[in-house]
Amino acid sequence: MAHAILSDSELLARLVAFDSTSCNSNLPIADFICDYLDRPGVVVERLPSPDGDKVNLAVFVGPAVDPETVDGLLLSGHMDVVPATEPEWQSDPFALTDTGDRLVGRGACDMKGFDAIAINAAAEAADQGLRNPLVLVLTYDEEIGTIGAHDFAQAWPRDRPLPRRAIIGEPTSLDVVRMHKGHLKMRATLRGQEAHSGYPHLGRSAIEPAARAVTALAELRETLLTEPCPHAEHFPAVPFVALNVGIVRGGSAVNVVPARCDIELGLRILPGMAAEPYARRATEAIEHAVAGSPGVSVEVEVVCSSPPLLTDENNDLCSHLYGLREQSATVSASYATDAGWLQECGLDCLIFGPGNIEVAHKPNEGIPKDEFRQGGEIFRSLVTRYCA
Ligand SMILES: [Zn+2]
Repeated sequence: MAHAILSDSELLARLVAFDSTSCNSNLPIADFICDYLDRPGVVVERLPSPDGDKVNLAVFVGPAVDPETVDGLLLSGHMDVVPATEPEWQSDPFALTDTGDRLVGRGACDMKGFDAIAINAAAEAADQGLRNPLVLVLTYDEEIGTIGAHDFAQAWPRDRPLPRRAIIGEPTSLDVVRMHKGHLKMRATLRGQEAHSGYPHLGRSAIEPAARAVTALAELRETLLTEPCPHAEHFPAVPFVALNVGIVRGGSAVNVVPARCDIELGLRILPGMAAEPYARRATEAIEHAVAGSPGVSVEVEVVCSSPPLLTDENNDLCSHLYGLREQSATVSASYATDAGWLQECGLDCLIFGPGNIEVAHKPNEGIPKDEFRQGGEIFRSLVTRYCA
């Protein structure tokens, strides 16, 4: 017998209760979703990660996708959350708490609130005899670099079409976002020679050339400020490629010449830009800075890359949502999402969901109850419009 359908907030509470922080396996929450959606009229496919510790889910309701029209609707969300270790939490982050006008818990906003709405929309549509398919794509490891969406886009057979209209329900306060920046993450590993600091001639410090590399990256960052970028007008606050050295890690003790230093950096490119030239420039800056240090080697690698998103506003879903939300101007986002990869499966992706991105990744993350309810109504109306 199929499980009774929970209310959106009851389902959200169940999803929040799983500690699906990206460092953990997402199999428990995925198993719960599979079990919840185990009902006539719903087909769930599991797409395991290469090591089998995580799983993407693809959920199908209604007829097969018509390869000619690629009609229907695809809704996508990630199942993982960022860590909830901040001491400022006023309630258990994994117990959804009603504070009057908000529902608070890790992931309530980013983005289990949307997930609950999408999963319920699929469950409710199961016995409605849809004319066009409703598809959900639920991913792992979005928060650590859109890994699950990358793996999904790599694995999904190109001769198996998905509905072209797609919404990634990241929290946008129900604004329609059709473009966002990409994020390229890189790591440089410098290796020297360890020695007692009393005998420095026997060692080769990895930290000193790393400091020069960081200075070179700061110069590259300044240069990037001055370079014109496509679609810069849609990113008025930061109309350039932003470079950030986020982590420097090296050394073991004050009395030891350090043998190793790691530098981690990110570059946020604009829509229409390729990541490779920026990866190359950062690599050259680092290698050049380290070249003057004999006995120190450096290895620079791209850790992961989330492509930018650019969707034409002349598509029917975008126009419909603009009308619904009385929005006329393009809204852009400076963060990357799964959409960058999912668009490679032929999807026209929009970012649109309840909740405010400003409270995501912070203690006492929550979603306004009003907006959550409104989001539920809008997504159900979209399923009716495009699938029923
Ligand atoms: Zn998110």
